[in-house]
Order: sequence, then C-alpha cells, then structure tokens
Amino acid sequence: MIEERGGFYDRDPRHYDLRVAVLYPSPYLVSVNSLGHQLLYYSLNEIEGVMAERFVLDFKGSVESGRDLNEFDVAVATLHFEGQYPLLLKMIEGFKGQVIVGGPAVTANPIPIMGSVDAVGVGDSEEIIPKVISSMTEGELSSPGLINSRDPSPTELIRAKKLKVLKRQILVTKSGKPLNPFLIEVSRGCNWACKFCLIGWHWHPLQEADPWELKEALYSAKDQGFKEVYVIGSDIMEAKSLKKVLELVRELDMKASVPSLRADLIDEDFLDLLISVGEKRVTVAPETGSSRMKILISKPIDNDDILWLAEAVKDKGFSSMKLYFMVGLPNERDEDVLESAKLASKVNELIKTKVTVSIFVPKAGTPFELEPLARPEVVARRGKIFEKEFRGKINLMHPGRAYLQTVFSVGSWEIANLLKRAYKRPYNKGAYQKEAKKLGINLDSLVYEKREEAPWRDLVLVSPSQRVRREINF
Ligand code: SF4
Repeated sequence: MIEERGGFYDRDPRHYDLRVAVLYPSPYLVSVNSLGHQLLYYSLNEIEGVMAERFVLDFKGSVESGRDLNEFDVAVATLHFEGQYPLLLKMIEGFKGQVIVGGPAVTANPIPIMGSVDAVGVGDSEEIIPKVISSMTEGELSSPGLINSRDPSPTELIRAKKLKVLKRQILVTKSGKPLNPFLIEVSRGCNWACKFCLIGWHWHPLQEADPWELKEALYSAKDQGFKEVYVIGSDIMEAKSLKKVLELVRELDMKASVPSLRADLIDEDFLDLLISVGEKRVTVAPETGSSRMKILISKPIDNDDILWLAEAVKDKGFSSMKLYFMVGLPNERDEDVLESAKLASKVNELIKTKVTVSIFVPKAGTPFELEPLARPEVVARRGKIFEKEFRGKINLMHPGRAYLQTVFSVGSWEIANLLKRAYKRPYNKGAYQKEAKKLGINLDSLVYEKREEAPWRDLVLVSPSQRVRREINF
C-alpha cells in the first residue's frame, strides 16, 4: 500500500484566511518528483493564514483531505511543458476561484495560456508567490513578475534573490520502502547560451543554492527516511557545491542520481564520486555530432571529449551511457545527422548506449524563436539515417508532440482562443488542426513556416544585460 508523509494534513479550513489549491497536471507519482510543485506547496503553507493542498490528475479531490477544488479560494500551478496546458484546463473546469500559473514554458511565452487563467507568473515563485498572496488579502491580484490576463501589461522576468532549499519534502512509501527521491536543487539557470535553449536564455546566469542550506537539507532528507537524492540543475557541473553535495550523500550512506552532464567538464575523480553514490549510468547531451551544427547552435562540445568520457565511463565500471541528440535544427542537413549517428555508434562500441533523439521545437525568447519546425517527412528521414548508421533502436520524439509543443511555444492570442476550445479534445495534431480550422487558424503555417513576429516580446521584457546578448545573437 502506498503511503505518504511530509505534508500538511488534518487541518480545519475555517482557521485559514486563504485556501490555496496547488495543481499539478500529471499523475500523483510524477508530481512528487516535481520540485516546482513541492516548492509552491511548502512556500504557500509557510505563509501565515494560508492553507495549501495538492491536486493531481489521478486523485479525486485534494491529496491531503479529498476536499473538492471549489472549497479553495485560488488555484496555483507550475507548468513544466506545453502538453500540461490542456490537462490543467480540465482540472480547473467549473472552478470558481482565481487561477495563477507559472513555470518555464509560460514564462517564455505566457500568451497561449492567458485566455484560460487569471494571471501568469513570469520567473521564480520564491519572489512572485508571497507578493501575489499578500496582494490577494487586499483584494487585488498583483506582483512584480505577474501578468494579469484581464489587463496584461509587460513585465521583466523576476529571478529569486535567493534559491529556496526545501528541507522537508513529500516522501512516498510502499510497504515502508521509499518510492521517490529527495530533490536537491544545487543551481538554477545556466551560464551557457545554446541557441535553442529556453533555460540558457531566460535563466542566465547560473544561480547557486547556499551550500550550508544544501547540507542541512541532506541531513534532513536522511532523518525523513529518504534513501536516494536526485540532484536538480541545468548546468550542475558548474555549481561549486555539487561535489560537496555528492560527498555528503555518500557519507550519509544514501544514493544519488544526477541529470545530464557536460562531457567537457567531467574528470575521472568526478566519475569515481558518481560511482560511489550508486550512479550506474552517465548521461550527456551533445545534441549533434556535426562540427558545423555545433557552431550554429552554440553548443561546442567536442566529440573527442565524449569519446574520452565513454572510455572512462566503461573503465570505471558504469553499466551504460545515455546520449541526447536533436534533429530538425535550423540549417541542419542529412549529413549532419549522419555525423551524430556516427558519434553515437562510436560511443556504443565502447559502452552500451541508449540514444534519445528529440525534435527541435522553437522556444520563445531564444535566438531560434522564429525558426520553423521540421516537417514530419524530414524528421522521419533523419530518424532513419540515424538508426541505420547507429545500427540500433533510437528513441525518437513523436513529430505530433513536437507539432503541438510548437503551437503553444510560439503561438499568440489566436492560440489562446484555440486552447480554450480544444482542451477537451484528444491531445493530438489532427484534433487540434480540426478545431483550428473552425476558427480560421492555419496551424501548419504557424508551425512549418518561418515566422516574422514574436508577440511575447511585448509582454516578457528583457533586462539590459539580456538585451545586449540578444543584439549579438538574434
Ligand atoms: S542546453 Fe544545457 S548547456 Fe545549453 S544553455 Fe541549455 S541548459 Fe545550458
């Protein structure tokens, strides 16, 4: 039987001034792996007079008490990817309170979701949420970084003055055994600027968590009964506390896993450390094996560094590697994909390798924001080229998923309208195309043709330093 602890239970809502529903449009077991969701939940419950409970897709009523959504005054949600938009809309159907959303995708382009919610937070919840709640107690809905859907005015992305390190977290167990890891965010954002990457262009530069707080959090994780730690961060190899965190995990006799790493920054000592905390696989994201594309996308990770890493990973006793590539990038040719497959194949000769190939999706606020999505026949051809050269199965993203991601990633007000009408339909290209046709929207042209306008630029403003980066790169 599945049980959880670490939340806030058995409370009388009459004792609170504001009851907040924290929504996560995914199943429960996925929600407990979302740091953004847990951050919202704990931060809200820390505010005096606020009672927050969680809502997920597969629970009727709140996780804590089974209360109906309409027993809450306001709903907040963090959205990690565009596919969650229609799911959120299904969750808030019939809800009479206000709905506020945040997260990376809506920060880059808030417009498509704005027709369906009351406000969008642009930036980090640490700064925005307390101010929004305090404004609500005065009958308003405002904060720096918050765009009110009724009267949208431009805002700059608000970054946290200090990263909140969550020391208490939800622990799920089955027959007493933990099912989820403790989430530890060593850093947020990235110092690099790969031209396709939303994080590199919105959360720049890298911001590090306080090392003492990370240490306290790990001791607390052990006390709460967690056995495993999942390190979170986009550019963690540059976070100064990463090694100390892993060393403490080892000292506490816990296990750790890490996200994808930059191959050019790994050394043998670091691999020893990873092995010692139980990591079995090393993941890197070269995106491409072609030198030409590496320059065009500004992610110049040398193939030799990846091959060196594959050998070292094998020598150290890891079981496998995982490589992330991308196809459909602007100006990509078939021969570039062949180079990627050659690289993957060489790595696979050294150590068992799992390959995931995603399709380039243009993201608002990046130098590639106006670029089109590659047509399905191009993706299919390049997928075949990859598989043939790799001589093995690859995990290729579904073109239909990339299509809808693009719609919501670079859509404008007409897509906000489409979402309101189409969210109940199956989440697939055909269903959305049908609904778009009724509204006179040509989705193919939005997705497959080079766009000329970036309407989100009127709403999400950039700081002076970001402006300089854009002038050089866009
Ligand atoms: S792809 Fe990775 S390294 Fe590049 S900007 Fe994004 S987070 Fe940074």
